[in-house]
Amino acid sequence: MEYNQNGLSYNLEEELSDAIELLRDKSIRITPQRRAILSFLIETDSHPTVDEIYQNLSQDEELGISLATVYNNLNVLVDVGLVNQMKFSDVTSRYDYRGHSHRHIICTNCGKIGDFHYDELSGLEEAAQKQTGYQVQFNKLDVYGLCPECQKLKEEAIEES
Ligand code: ZN
Ligand code: MN
Repeated sequence: MEYNQNGLSYNLEEELSDAIELLRDKSIRITPQRRAILSFLIETDSHPTVDEIYQNLSQDEELGISLATVYNNLNVLVDVGLVNQMKFSDVTSRYDYRGHSHRHIICTNCGKIGDFHYDELSGLEEAAQKQTGYQVQFNKLDVYGLCPECQKLKEEAIEES
């Protein structure tokens, strides 16, 4: 099954089997619930909270998933590095599958997180390493702005006033 994320298409089965292989390598058990959470996170680009993941997966009664199970599994997936836990100030954490390296743009009005691709920051790490002697491991850069929906709402509010 193909799925799309910001204009790029990926293969869900391939993605999922790579992730499962990584879990096997680390001797982590693959339960149906764990597989379902992984699959959902790979497919979605909505950066869901624990509650949103639970609400989505609990619709499948056969899976019989509890909120605690979602929590525990997310912790495992974060620990092995498959999933990124994003904390923004004191708001609930949001979760993102790590598969494809990408950057985030965050709406300053509604908090929605968008994905985009940009790999031109290698010069940044080089400069940091050269100037400080640190051994660089990763860099973190988020972009902030108004999402298209919030722009529209703002325009409508101006027109009405
Ligand atoms: Zn917004
Ligand atoms: Mn993302």
